[in-house]
Amino acid sequence: MKNHSRKTYSLINLPALLCNYNQIDNLTPNSKTIAVIKANAYGHGAVEVAQYLSKHVPAFGVALIDEAIELREAGITLPILIMEGALSREDFSTALQQNFWLMLHTTQQVEWLTSSFPNYVGKLWLKMDTGMNRLGIKPDEIKNILTKLTAQQLEEIVLCTHFSSSDELNNPKTQLQIQEFDRINQIFGLKKSLANSAGILHWPESHGDYNRLGLALYGSNPTPVEKLAVTLTPVMTLQSTIISLRQLSEGESVGYGEMWQAKRPTIIATIAIGYADGYPRNAKNGTPVFINGNIAPLAGRVSMDMLTVDVTDISDVKLGDSVELWGENLAVETVAEYLDTVNYELLTRVSNRVTRIYRS
Ligand SMILES: *Cc1c(COP(=O)(O)O)cnc(C)c1O
Repeated sequence: MKNHSRKTYSLINLPALLCNYNQIDNLTPNSKTIAVIKANAYGHGAVEVAQYLSKHVPAFGVALIDEAIELREAGITLPILIMEGALSREDFSTALQQNFWLMLHTTQQVEWLTSSFPNYVGKLWLKMDTGMNRLGIKPDEIKNILTKLTAQQLEEIVLCTHFSSSDELNNPKTQLQIQEFDRINQIFGLKKSLANSAGILHWPESHGDYNRLGLALYGSNPTPVEKLAVTLTPVMTLQSTIISLRQLSEGESVGYGEMWQAKRPTIIATIAIGYADGYPRNAKNGTPVFINGNIAPLAGRVSMDMLTVDVTDISDVKLGDSVELWGENLAVETVAEYLDTVNYELLTRVSNRVTRIYRS
């Protein structure tokens, strides 16, 4: 959507993407790092991100077959892993015919393979449930399945699991999941894939033949309280402008439900972004917004197309000034804390009404 006069943009810094990727990839010289670009590349634009990274990464990861097809149609020829797998026999056939890397995570999908494609020898991912209890096949069942596959098929299998708590560095769960994984895989010696962003950054024992890098690729820290060994640069900067300024007397309120009252003479700036753009309505008073080099607090309810900020303490504020909701100067993980959510959700829910502008 062209909203040039409104100037509400998501600026996407493509070189930062590559810089983040290379630093993280260098942490694991013995692993291949798959760039996870599901959910429209965490809101950054899957096709643009894939085109930019194509020469630098071994493969992409998406959640859905439709996301994989979109990338192929845009000319992306690298392998694409479909992490949620094929949910019907028809999709299963389509995925194998299109040479996607399929995640097998139910015994039914394994049955589709053995009944319809018994001689298939392309790469396949097999997901073991080591305690996330969302997707995947239990370890004992995995053993049964693997003993039935041919040596040639086993050669191409990547045994995979997903962590429930890898962002909690003191939680013993991740270690237990790794142990359970290794217990099974030492029987078969398959290629392996365990680590997400937090796994790559904090759990060296989880590094496998393939790691699956999502959030940190986009420059956001999956463990906001921890310092990282790499310097990540936020790829997305969500930006808007001041479209109105007003002076309030002590005691006056702002916006729907009078959720904020002035305790002193106050200058309120109205910003052209709201919950229909993906800035959540549950933002609390005081949520930080970056204006003219300073942090100013949100004041009053976020509405559909606008939000309001107390800029009394910011100098030289004028109509048309640009405002950063999160990005290079204000980490999305910091903002997420005020919104009772996580960086993942904020990035992925920026709506289509916000034009993405790519800097290469
Ligand atoms: C989304 C996802 C990832 C990437 O996770 P991040 O925490 O964003 O790095 C890895 N593996 C699976 C199965 C996923 O669904």
